[in-house]
Amino acid sequence: MSPTAPQKKVIVVGAGWAGLGATYQLAKQGYEVTLLEAGPQPGGLVAGWKTPGGRSVEAGIHGFWYPYNNIFSLVDELGIQPFTPYTRSSQYSPAGLEVESPLFQAMPYLPSPMGTFIYTQFKRLPLAERLSALPLLYAVVDFDNSDDAWKRYDGMSARELFKQYGVSEWLYRDAFEPMLLVGLFAPGEQCSAAAAIGMLYYFILAHQPDFDVRWCRGTVGEMIFRPWVERIEALGGKVLANKRVSDVQVEDNCVTGVVCSGVGDDETFAADAVIFSVGITGMKKIVAGSEALRNRTEFRDLQNLGGIDVLATRLWFDRKVEVPLPSNACFGFHQTTGWTFFDLNALQDEYKDEPGRVIEVDYYHANQLLPLGDEQVVTLPQKDLAG
Ligand SMILES: Cc1cc2nc3c(=O)[nH]c(=O)nc-3n(C[C@H](O)[C@H](O)[C@H](O)COP(=O)(O)OP(=O)(O)OC[C@H]3O[C@@H](n4cnc5c(N)ncnc54)[C@H](O)[C@@H]3O)c2cc1C
Repeated sequence: MSPTAPQKKVIVVGAGWAGLGATYQLAKQGYEVTLLEAGPQPGGLVAGWKTPGGRSVEAGIHGFWYPYNNIFSLVDELGIQPFTPYTRSSQYSPAGLEVESPLFQAMPYLPSPMGTFIYTQFKRLPLAERLSALPLLYAVVDFDNSDDAWKRYDGMSARELFKQYGVSEWLYRDAFEPMLLVGLFAPGEQCSAAAAIGMLYYFILAHQPDFDVRWCRGTVGEMIFRPWVERIEALGGKVLANKRVSDVQVEDNCVTGVVCSGVGDDETFAADAVIFSVGITGMKKIVAGSEALRNRTEFRDLQNLGGIDVLATRLWFDRKVEVPLPSNACFGFHQTTGWTFFDLNALQDEYKDEPGRVIEVDYYHANQLLPLGDEQVVTLPQKDLAG
């Protein structure tokens, strides 16, 4: 933008990772940018808050994998160090410990994906079963993330893909399905084969250390988003909470503003461009309530998409129950739902000195668990952890 050109006004809707990322980049480029968030503070799915007793909680815990270069450069730019070192992780089924992952970056490097296959310690799955995954490598190499590759693989479910490439039932049930449930939040029949291969490539196979993961040492809201919002504001961007966008204004096929409604009168913000960075459930609500968007097929078609529910719990035990590794994925306990648990005494500064173990238990694809009352929600992870 030339220094004399009038500044374009951009409104970004939704202050999660995506909205903050867009706002930050635009503010750095000199746009007049305002981020509108419906909630009381930025955060979205990683929002954190305090319980009435003053304990920090957040909407699930979030891992940062080795390939998250954009986030690692962001924290460098902000001059903060919010992360733990990389941690090892385990996988459990009702039969016990199934898999332990080493720190892949600490092992001698082998050509990809040999390191992943050789260093992952399977406790029960026989080698012959594991070798049945080899033909799948053809699809991983063939899938180059282009539009064509997406079209080729998107019409097929992940379940069909694994079957077609000869992956054994045992390997699918014990390794791939859990990966899909905790990685893409859905069982294989519901995931696109393209999304599944993309995930395998990005998180596991492209480079040996890709599966290594680290954690925020507190809530992401406090440790990353707060300094990030301060930086955005220092650059001239505005971040406004409690602003629920309900409609857009359009003239001559061009957007001219957004409308926020809530308690009291509607409020309007002028804009030359609008970026929606809300989840699909939020976007469907905006489209349903907006005449300008409802009249356009591309927005109406969004009604065909759906969100997936997740249940996040945090338990304070009265003593230090033993948890060998800080991050753990579990499968086979519930037919359609994967879950993970984390030792927060090991991961988060605030819980290091707690007398009892603090454990975060998160359930993915947990639609059927949402109607449970608080008491039932507490007994569910207790029972699963005991298992
Ligand atoms: C339990 C759990 C564990 C996860 N674990 C991981 C992990 O380990 N690693 C990982 O990389 N990812 C993980 N994820 C996924 C990750 O959290 C999300 O992909 C990411 O937070 C999404 O960010 P976003 O900005 O796209 O959307 P969101 O975080 O959903 O932000 C959208 C924002 O839009 C706002 N909004 C909605 N409607 C309106 C409106 N009308 N007007 C104004 N604002 C509106 C919402 O309030 C929200 O703040 C996990 C998710 C969950 C739930």
